[in-house]
Amino acid sequence: MKQMQPPRIISRQDHPISRTMISPNVIKILYRLKDNGHTAYLVGGGVRDLLLGREPKDFDVATDATPGRIKKLFRNCRLVGRRFRLAHLHFSDEIVEVSTFRGSFAEESAGDTTTLPPEGDESANPRRQVREDGLVLRDNVFGSPADDAHRRDFTVNALAYNISDFSILDYVGGMEDLERGVIRTIGEPSLRFTEDPVRMLRAVRFAALLGFAFDKATWQALVENAPGITRATPPRLYEEFLKLFLSGEGEAIYQHMRLGGLFAPLFPRFSEWLERETEGFPHVRISKSLEWLDERFSGGTPVSTPLMLTLMFGEYLEEIAVFYRKQGVSPLDAIQAAVADFMGEQAPLVAIPHRVALAVRDIMILQYRFRKMPGKRPQSVLARPGFSDALAYLRCQSETTGEGADTFAWWESYAKDQVLPPAAMQMDSVAQRPKKRRRRRKGRVPATSL
Ligand code: ATP
Ligand code: MG
Repeated sequence: MKQMQPPRIISRQDHPISRTMISPNVIKILYRLKDNGHTAYLVGGGVRDLLLGREPKDFDVATDATPGRIKKLFRNCRLVGRRFRLAHLHFSDEIVEVSTFRGSFAEESAGDTTTLPPEGDESANPRRQVREDGLVLRDNVFGSPADDAHRRDFTVNALAYNISDFSILDYVGGMEDLERGVIRTIGEPSLRFTEDPVRMLRAVRFAALLGFAFDKATWQALVENAPGITRATPPRLYEEFLKLFLSGEGEAIYQHMRLGGLFAPLFPRFSEWLERETEGFPHVRISKSLEWLDERFSGGTPVSTPLMLTLMFGEYLEEIAVFYRKQGVSPLDAIQAAVADFMGEQAPLVAIPHRVALAVRDIMILQYRFRKMPGKRPQSVLARPGFSDALAYLRCQSETTGEGADTFAWWESYAKDQVLPPAAMQMDSVAQRPKKRRRRRKGRVPATSL
């Protein structure tokens, strides 16, 4: 059994975190736990971001109170999670995650752990389950604050702010790495990436977002383990994919992923295509599109998931569509087939939901319609789902490659001149599809309206 070192304690006067920087709901939670005799810490990315002077995305709390006890203390509590059981405390404007200190792998005791063959039966229901290949399926062994810090992913994510004396506890050298700007796994990097391959994607996300460098051993292990990224489940990889490319640092993340060997295993056919030149030209549009997206984020303009996907994969989809066109398929069916092919390729790796795929298809199809200016019934084009995303896509093409600049200018000015009910301009969100005015076959594009 590994001997845990006592933590380095950074007292209140030696760090910049004050209670006013923390959400009042979180402060209340920390105090209620403390006043009921529990240890209560603010943990994870919230502490990291406050120390860096960045605005935290969310706040997480860790405590020695068990999930059952948390439920008793808070009426707004819902217990969630199977892989990790934790409490969600619901407030009108936020949900705060409260987790019970978990045991680290070093403290593993045989009775709590079962090992399963790779596609094993999970019905045994122990508190911790590890597949034969090292992937952790379930981890609900409670532990000490030290254990809890050690089972976290990176040193900079393992700092804890203690509500009882406002100090920061550092068990793993996180403060030093934060000051130096280093992403380092806690413990042996290869083992940590085997337990959970998604940590490799988290590593590149944090490095890009925080502008940090990789610790050498962490980077080496990432490169070695990168092909294993596909061991994570497709829905989880999709979730992480969104975090990566809707972060505002998509281009840097993309470069890290390519360099580390994480991109090709997740998008194999697309990556093969990227390596090939088309008519003597390398495919550089993805990088330019990601830079354009990142700028849009920094300008405060929200970017929808379908727009992001179309910007990343649009050039590839267009080429597949050309292939179908050459075989005599109609332009719209060719786009439809190209999107379907891509989604089929990706389904076993990064599971892109069907409704998102349909929205990508809508953006692509509108590009085809845009070529006619005005064409028949241009007003109906403005009311089509995905119009403003499609226009943003065209804007990106015209700004990054110069292609379609006239078309973009025409449609942008046409859209501005039209007096539209406000709702019609916002219909690009997947969730806000307009009511169908005419009957359509589900999932089919009505060619006549184009
Ligand atoms: P952000 O919320 O800004 O994306 P974060 O570090 O807070 O970053 P979360 O996903 O909110 O990330 O997780 C909260 C904390 O839980 C992390 O800081 C880390 O300590 C721990 N954690 C999250 N995912 C993992 C993982 N896959 N393995 C180990 N620890 C993890
Ligand atoms: Mg967080």
